[in-house]
Amino acid sequence: MPPESRQTVVVDGLGLANRLRADLARAVERHVARGRRAPRLAVVLVGDDPASASYIKGKRRACDRIGMDSLERDLPAHASQEEVVAAVQALNADPEVDGILVQLPLPKGMDAFAVTSAIDPAKDVDGLHPENAGRLLLGESGLTACTPLGVMKILEHHGVPLEGADAVVIGRSNIVGKPVSLLLQRAHATVTMCHSRSRNLRARCREADVLVAAVGVPRLVKADWVKPGAAVIDVGVSVVDGALTGDVDTEAVQGIASLVTPHRRGVGPMTITMLLHNTLAAYESRTGACPD
Ligand code: NAP
Repeated sequence: MPPESRQTVVVDGLGLANRLRADLARAVERHVARGRRAPRLAVVLVGDDPASASYIKGKRRACDRIGMDSLERDLPAHASQEEVVAAVQALNADPEVDGILVQLPLPKGMDAFAVTSAIDPAKDVDGLHPENAGRLLLGESGLTACTPLGVMKILEHHGVPLEGADAVVIGRSNIVGKPVSLLLQRAHATVTMCHSRSRNLRARCREADVLVAAVGVPRLVKADWVKPGAAVIDVGVSVVDGALTGDVDTEAVQGIASLVTPHRRGVGPMTITMLLHNTLAAYESRTGACPD
């Protein structure tokens, strides 16, 4: 072993997700035992993209397993933006729907901002409505995007120190990069947000105590991008030669990082778990049902 080599914890995201889902299942069970209806998630799918259909299937199965209701509103790929917004508004008006998620990406030409902005902020379990995004920015409570919440749960679970830590986030999307940067900042890390135009990316990453890669470029983060002892979170998902690959060369950073998430069974299961978490939170907040 080289002198700098260390034990790297490879995060079991699936195991953590399953433990948190068991807690959520118990919470749903307690509500139902008190004679209340179960929380309900509605998913809107526009078009017939097979990857989106498969993600939705996974979300519905996850709901079923914890006793949560789910329903799907399917619209054809040729649906107009007005029709999609009308479907969202109907779900807003349905008192028995607690969470609404519009599966992205939407067909070309449709304005995703306009559609997600039509969701009632109290049911916006993806945290994309400008009110929820603004609340996060202002440090107020609200529904927060699921993947960033999952990343924070992983860091918290593994006791990664964040206060005063230097964190680098690669990616500045509304759904991952920006919210995870804000959550890290809220946890008192000093955050650098990088993107496709950032200079000296490798050198910046090498300064990071916590490195989050949310890019979608396979194995962008190499061993010499990682500071010894850093916690490395790989959010990216790419398909290379038919196999799933992340943004981090996971094998190469082992022995250097203190912790790394694998591209399978890492962040992904936590994203769905946080969707369930947000749906339960929206249900409790909307119905006034105590979480006891
Ligand atoms: P996105 O909207 O495409 O954003 C990608 C970000 O990466 C952009 O900010 C882009 O910079 C930056 N970028 C692209 N190439 C770069 C490079 N060579 N160097 C540095 N920065 C670069 O993607 P996203 O929705 O945030 O998702 C990011 C990745 O995470 C994707 O692979 C996605 O599939 C995955 N993902 C996984 C989960 C999960 O649960 N595991 C959930 C959500 C997303 P610019 O802003 O300058 O264009």
